[in-house]
Amino acid sequence: MQTEATRSPDLSNLWMPFTANRQFKAHPRMLASARDMHYTAADGHRVLDGTSGLWCVNAGHGRRPIVDAISRQAAHLDYAPSFQIGHEDSFRAASEVAALMPAGLDRVFFTNSGSESVDTALKIALAYHRARGEGQRTRLIGRERGYHGVGFGGISVGGISPNRKAFSGVLLPGVDHLPHTHDLEHNAFSRGQPAWGGERFADALESLVALHDASTIAAVIVEPLAGSTGVLLPPRGYLERLRAITEKHGILLIFDEVITGFGRLGAATASAFFGVTPDLITMAKGISNAAVPAGAVAVRRSVHDTIIDASANGIEFFHGYTYSAHPMATAAVRATLGIYRDEGLFDRAKTLSAPFEEAAHALKGRRHVIDIRNLGLVAGIELAPRAGAPGARAAEVFAECFDRGVLVRYTGDIIAISPPLIIDEAQIGQIFGTLAEVLDTVD
Ligand code: PLP
Repeated sequence: MQTEATRSPDLSNLWMPFTANRQFKAHPRMLASARDMHYTAADGHRVLDGTSGLWCVNAGHGRRPIVDAISRQAAHLDYAPSFQIGHEDSFRAASEVAALMPAGLDRVFFTNSGSESVDTALKIALAYHRARGEGQRTRLIGRERGYHGVGFGGISVGGISPNRKAFSGVLLPGVDHLPHTHDLEHNAFSRGQPAWGGERFADALESLVALHDASTIAAVIVEPLAGSTGVLLPPRGYLERLRAITEKHGILLIFDEVITGFGRLGAATASAFFGVTPDLITMAKGISNAAVPAGAVAVRRSVHDTIIDASANGIEFFHGYTYSAHPMATAAVRATLGIYRDEGLFDRAKTLSAPFEEAAHALKGRRHVIDIRNLGLVAGIELAPRAGAPGARAAEVFAECFDRGVLVRYTGDIIAISPPLIIDEAQIGQIFGTLAEVLDTVD
């Protein structure tokens, strides 16, 4: 007799996010469990996680210290409001996050996701200028092909057209965009940061300042390395130049580190990796190893203090979430940061980035491959699109890799690889070896 556990569920009620629902429901692909570097699919086959879930399970799956911390907390303090009352773990978690941030960014606001972190950071930027008596600085600048989640703030500064077009009439006013930094003509097959175009791409900000005047611009937000759009790297000198220009004009610089935070590039943050310190850093994903939804914004102390000090009394910043610093999230954050520290995972990622780069670039010359780019434990493999069917080739590569036991991710015709930092060299070989085989079979 079939029990609920063995009967297939009705797929009709769930409206899946960022999914081709009809195709999925016609050919469902289900995950059943996960441990360390592997998922087990519902049909029982093991799948090596080449993407850390969705760029988030940096310490690998099912890690005991996190599972134990969450269970203990659920039994001990299931929920505590964060408005006008606190619980001690939230303060400890904030201190531990702050200790991993660049010097000066030691004030931490908790959220539940990357999208919430982005909208929080944009609001902090606006509140900051208003507190300094420059409330006319309301313009926000994002970048083409940027992904900053799905809130109205995030899609307004974001630069991915399908995410924006249905909502185009109600996006935030006064937003402008820098050009993206992808240039296959000059930078194809770069290893690490591309050499060409850094200052030139960043100087587009000077043009926007000339157009709008600095006195109207509150903040610039960029991903130091753009992940979701298909792994676009900052050319050398680019982030440094953005920092110099924003500083010169009193514009806040926000790094969206939802993907790059917590070891992805072999350092705690991309800011530390590149040696460029913004004014705010948005985080989520790896902050809790994705075991419980969590996010945060790290804020430069002087920005925080300006907002706090501008208010004579009472609430200084009218913003927050029912689940800001949820006890289960702060327990997961603390246990996760403990694993990163105890197992030296950021250094591990740094050490592995050389063999990872070799393995990725060994795909050069395979059919369809028009670019390979990499940094830390991230690689993007761009395929030539199939005539008349953009995205179809990468979708087939994804499906075939899954059937052969490797999870990769695709955006358009770009395959993205971003494994947990506990990966070993043999598993790196398995990911790129499987990709090589699959590229040979896909038309
Ligand atoms: N910002 C960046 C850079 C991201 O990559 C993402 C998600 O991939 C987000 C924001 C949104 O995060 P979430 O899906 O947790 O809202």
